[in-house]
Amino acid sequence: MDPLLLPDNLLTTQLKKVVNWSRRSSLWPLPFATACCGIELMATASSRYDLARFGAEAMRFSPRQSDLLIVAGRVTIKMMPVLQHIYQQMTEPKWVISMGACASTGGVFDCYATIQGIDQFLPVDVYVPGCPPRPETLIEGIMAIQGIIDSEGLPAKDRHPLRLAIEPASRPTSPPVAITVEGKTP
Ligand code: SF4
Repeated sequence: MDPLLLPDNLLTTQLKKVVNWSRRSSLWPLPFATACCGIELMATASSRYDLARFGAEAMRFSPRQSDLLIVAGRVTIKMMPVLQHIYQQMTEPKWVISMGACASTGGVFDCYATIQGIDQFLPVDVYVPGCPPRPETLIEGIMAIQGIIDSEGLPAKDRHPLRLAIEPASRPTSPPVAITVEGKTP
């Protein structure tokens, strides 16, 4: 090779930086959209907001092809084992966005059936606020994930493990006893 060409044709970097750059530029989200936040998630991928500018437009509904879980909407206690199963099947390294008030806190649905924040059961990396968040806000959340990948390369080591055993949010009451029907006890 002509040594005179080398100064203009060589780029030195670290392998970790190249790997991180490829990861952050090709996120494949898995949309777990259960409610109205899902509509904003769909809008984010539309031509108006063009999520492809950030390399994250390839939404996949197979967890084995995804590395970014976006939970958009409220999650009930019956759904959580399914969501955890999906999370477990996703490829490593993987990241999680909690989109909207319902996913992050339960929102206005303060009842026994709704999970009051998915971070009780999943390691959430970025919370996107709003009810619903606008597409720009979700894009900012995805950029925050990219920032995490740039800075660390891998998910944080201190993320808490999955809590697979879901505690019941309410206890069944005892059945009524000593009911009398027409003067007789059943
Ligand atoms: S945060 Fe608001 S917009 Fe999103 S799912 Fe809950 S109620 Fe719907």
